[in-house]
Amino acid sequence: MLKLAVIGDPIEHSLSPKVHGEALDAIGIEYEYKKIRVRQGEIEDYIKYARSNGIDGFNVTMPHKVDIIPFLDEIDDEAEVFSSVNTVCVRDGKLYGYSTDATGYRLSIGERGYGFDGSRIVILGAGGVVRTLAQAAAIDGAKSITILNRTERSAEEICKKIRIYASHADFGKLSSREIANRCESADILINATPLGMSGCSGNFEDFDFLDALPKSALISDLIYSPKKTDLLKAAEERGNKTLNGLSMLIYQALAADEYYLGREIDKNKIYKEIKDLI
Ligand code: NAP
Repeated sequence: MLKLAVIGDPIEHSLSPKVHGEALDAIGIEYEYKKIRVRQGEIEDYIKYARSNGIDGFNVTMPHKVDIIPFLDEIDDEAEVFSSVNTVCVRDGKLYGYSTDATGYRLSIGERGYGFDGSRIVILGAGGVVRTLAQAAAIDGAKSITILNRTERSAEEICKKIRIYASHADFGKLSSREIANRCESADILINATPLGMSGCSGNFEDFDFLDALPKSALISDLIYSPKKTDLLKAAEERGNKTLNGLSMLIYQALAADEYYLGREIDKNKIYKEIKDLI
């Protein structure tokens, strides 16, 4: 039996047990998948526990995606570049770290016929997930990347990092007018802020900026609760293609399951089987 877990704090509302559970059921694997609250500063204790209790692997969420790195024996190239780990495999007492967030996102937009390569990307937000996605977009050959954030400095810092790979990386302040100014030729607009999320009091001031986008642009909201945010509703009304955060969530879990199982699985097939169950 595969012994798995997700660790983080807060962890009560994590969907990981549900997503991995449905995926592993669909694959036909016997497993246990626990949700474990590990506070900041307690990661070493959990690692000792995992090593001595036959844990095969665990997913890592806030606030440990960066903290865990010094405790790993090996880290894969992409996780090293992103300085972020969301999946750890325990093999013969050694810890191997991976990052599957970018893969999850690439597969989710791929399903809709979009990709980073050659695309003009506008990202709203400059938190942890944007550090990973902006670097992935740059490495994959995006034509341009613009990051708009409430705190402009965080967007600037990410821009500095990705300029190693991307010649056209720019940043600015998050506002309706600024989005409109920056997205006239965008191929993909990504909302990576919690604006519009259930339980978050904030929302966009208006959605007029959507009028500036080409009709061919994909509007991608990383939020999965609610499944259709006000941003996605407004984009749909204007005839744009939309994508919520559920597909990224499922695909990053399937990519993690491949590491746990040590073999490839048909991620597109399993995604289709389980997407309506989450
Ligand atoms: P994070 O590190 O906490 O960053 C949050 C970002 O949102 C920051 O850029 C922050 O701006 C901005 N923000 C927060 N409140 C805001 C407000 N009221 N108005 C404007 N901007 C605001 O979070 P994260 O890990 O990057 O995640 C960002 C979003 O992506 C969340 O909604 C999360 O649920 C979602 N996500 C989804 C998936 C998935 O699989 N679908 C995976 C990861 C994340 P400041 O810098 O100014 O604070």
